[in-house]
Order: sequence, then structure tokens, then C-alpha cells
Amino acid sequence: MGYRRETQAHPLIREKCRELIFDNDILRKIGDIFLDNIKKGLAKATHPTAVVKCFPTYVQDLPDGTETGKFLALDLGGTNFRVLLIELSGEHFEMKSKIFAIPQHIMLGSGEQLFDHIAECLAIFVKEEQVQQETLPLGFTFSFPLNQKGLTIGILERWTKGFNCSNVVGNDVVQMLNEAIGRRGDVKIEVCAILNDTTGTLMSCAWKNHDCRIGLIVGTGNNGCYVEKQENAELFDDKNRGSGKVIINLEMGAFGDDGSLDFIRTDYDREVDKHSINPGKQTQEKMISGMYMGELVRLALEKFTKEGLLFGGKGSDLLFERGRFYTKYVSEIESDEPGMFTNQKEILEELGLKHATEQDYVNVRFICECVSRRAAHLASASIVTLLHKMNEKKVTVGVDGSVYRYHPHFRNLMMEKIRELCDPSIEFDLMLSEDGSGRGAALVAAVAARQKKKVSA
Ligand code: BGC
Ligand code: MG
Repeated sequence: MGYRRETQAHPLIREKCRELIFDNDILRKIGDIFLDNIKKGLAKATHPTAVVKCFPTYVQDLPDGTETGKFLALDLGGTNFRVLLIELSGEHFEMKSKIFAIPQHIMLGSGEQLFDHIAECLAIFVKEEQVQQETLPLGFTFSFPLNQKGLTIGILERWTKGFNCSNVVGNDVVQMLNEAIGRRGDVKIEVCAILNDTTGTLMSCAWKNHDCRIGLIVGTGNNGCYVEKQENAELFDDKNRGSGKVIINLEMGAFGDDGSLDFIRTDYDREVDKHSINPGKQTQEKMISGMYMGELVRLALEKFTKEGLLFGGKGSDLLFERGRFYTKYVSEIESDEPGMFTNQKEILEELGLKHATEQDYVNVRFICECVSRRAAHLASASIVTLLHKMNEKKVTVGVDGSVYRYHPHFRNLMMEKIRELCDPSIEFDLMLSEDGSGRGAALVAAVAARQKKKVSA
């Protein structure tokens, strides 16, 4: 009697997961639709109805190493809300930062409450760091879709991820921050720049790597930015200035909101969307990003359990609880050595699934792999579209975000898929950003502050 070690997922599970696996033809088709979307977003005539908004940013120049001094940064919209103090002197810099919680009632409260809270955290921080007497330049990483009218004017187009504060959409968030600081009266700052986390990521990578022309986030949310020719960015209205290039914030998390990705969506996607705070919005983001990945896996686990294909048909309260299968579990489960299930055993026990068998472990891992690969492949299809559109010989992509950072295979999956889909004459690389949304914001603020000095001198 031989002991058989299960190495393959159950055939029925493999069959049912096929809808999560895209071949290269499908990925190319998705890439083509994405390109159409980008063109619509860039052109004045079609921008108002475009789904992928392609907002021009006003961040232009890279730091040149001559920036010196202290800068503050705020980072809102990622896994954590942070306040940072960064001291630059040439190539050297020092950073202090503090994470503050944003309670759920504030994420879903009024805009005024949100900005009062941010201002309070800022005040606490500058007092602790004893810089409250100085008027420091501040870079504000605000990782939501902004219609920018300048480096310090950003009109919120919509909330995404877990935020939905009233009375902010349509308003300038820099002004709202300034007003909140004014209401307190105990801190002085000067907002020098507002930027998206993708832009911060691009800038922080470009500081070190001059081929960096794309920024990508696969974290709580999903988005990208890239360097476009000014003549193609019809909404950019500062044409007299600069290099002839504009960084475009794609807001590609919204890709598919017009139904163009319906042909690849599954019941899991529709279920996640239905229970989100923004149904019908951020279609691609919901297929890729960390805010939703664990829940997609959980829905599949729940379905297969109820069909008797997993855990002997016996689930648990926690397995059937919405949001209870965290995205970090996917990373942990896929970090187990092949054939070993150390992390997974712990996770399943935590979820009340002690009765899982060896075959269940194999099945669960397979389901995680299908969902995370799908995310990596969709992100790759977007990057390939950009590489082809930019048509430069060599491009580095700066990447950040919790999924990219902590999933053990995400980078490899992306490298492999981009290599398969991309014109072989284009050389590319994926570079992990060192804290684009914190450090990047300070760098952008530093350049803006320097330019201001020049103008007023
Ligand atoms: C936001 C983007 C942001 C991305 C990653 C999305 O939900 O709309 O502005 O860049 O998340 O944080
Ligand atoms: Mg971030």
C-alpha cells in the first residue's frame, strides 16, 4: 500500500478555476482595449467620457542633488497613513516617520473631519519632532484620482479603496488641508506639491535610475503613471514649460468600468464588487489589488467547500465571513516551500479548518496561485501596452505596493509575462521603489521649493 503525496489540485477545482487563467491572446486583447482607453483619456474630445482618465500631473523636474533642507510629507491612501520629516543634503538624506490610524468612522465621515484629523496628526508629529516653529515645505501624497490644475491644486474626482468621505469630490484637497490647518492655528506649513503615489514611486526611482519612465502600484489599490509627450497630453495646459514631457496618472484601476472587461470577469469579481463601497467602480483594481485579493480567494474557497470539493464539505464560520481571508494569507501560503504547508496549516487552523487534508492544502494553494497570477498577468498586460506605446529602447518600471512587495512570486510572474508579451527589441526592468509615497513626496516638494526660490529671487 503506497502513500501517495498529493501534488495536483483536484481535477474539478482545476476545471472550475480555468476562468481565472488567461492565455497570451486574451492578455494581448486586454492590452489593446487598454490602449484604446488611454487614447480616449488623453484626448480633450473624449476625456469627459473616458474611463481611464489619464490625468496630467504637474510634476516635471527630477531632483538634481542640490536640494537641501527639511521637508514634510503626508502619505494618505496606502496601507497606512503616515507623516514624514525628511532632511536632504545632497545625495544624503534622513527620514523620520510616524504611522497614524484613520478610524473607519473618519474614512466614511465628512471631508472636514478627515482633514481635521490629518491636521491633528501633522501637529502632533511636528511638535514631537520640534519643528513646529518652522514653516516647512510639504509634499502631499494623495493616492486617489485627482484632476490637477497645477502642482498644488488637485480636485478629487472620486474616492476609491476604503474611503468615502462626504463633501470632498469636486473640491481642491490642498485647500481643504490648508483650511483644516488654519482652523487649528498651531502649525505652519507650505504645501508645495500634491501628487499620486504612482508619481512619487516614479520620481523616487528616477532619482537613482534615469531609465525610469513608468510608475506602478500593486498595493491596497492599483494604478500606474508614465512619461508621455506633451503634444499627446491634450489636457496639459502648461505648454510653455519644461521638457516637452508630462507624467500621466493613468488611474487605470478604473479600467473596465464601462464593461469592457466583462468578458474576463467571474462571479467572484461580481460578488466583490457588489459588496464594495463603490459598486461598478474600479473594475481592474478589484481584480488586481490587495484590498480585494484575499476576498476573491475566500469566495472561491467558500464556493468549493459548499460544493463538497474542499474540507470534506465542512467549512467554518470564519471561512464564510466576508473579508476574513486576508490578502497577506495569499502571500504567506505561496511562500511555503513546494510540498510543505507550514504557513498554510497555521492559517487554516486560525480559520477553524483543522480538519483540512493534504489534498486540501494542495487545492488551496492552487486557488491562491490562480488569483495572484491573474493579478500579475493583468498588471503585466498594462505594462506591455505602455512599453509599446512609449516605444523607447530601454525603460525601467518603478514599482511599489504591498502585493508587489510581499507576494513571493509577483515580480517573477510579471517579469516572465512581460518578457513573453513585449516586443523583444525593448529592454525593460522592474525596480522596487524605496518608499515612493513618502520619500517621493519629499523629493517632489524639495524640487518645487527650490524652483519657487529661484522664481522669487
Ligand atoms: C487610486 C489611485 C492610486 C492607487 C494606488 C487607486 O485606488 O485611485 O490614485 O494610485 O489606488 O494607491
Ligand atoms: Mg504607499
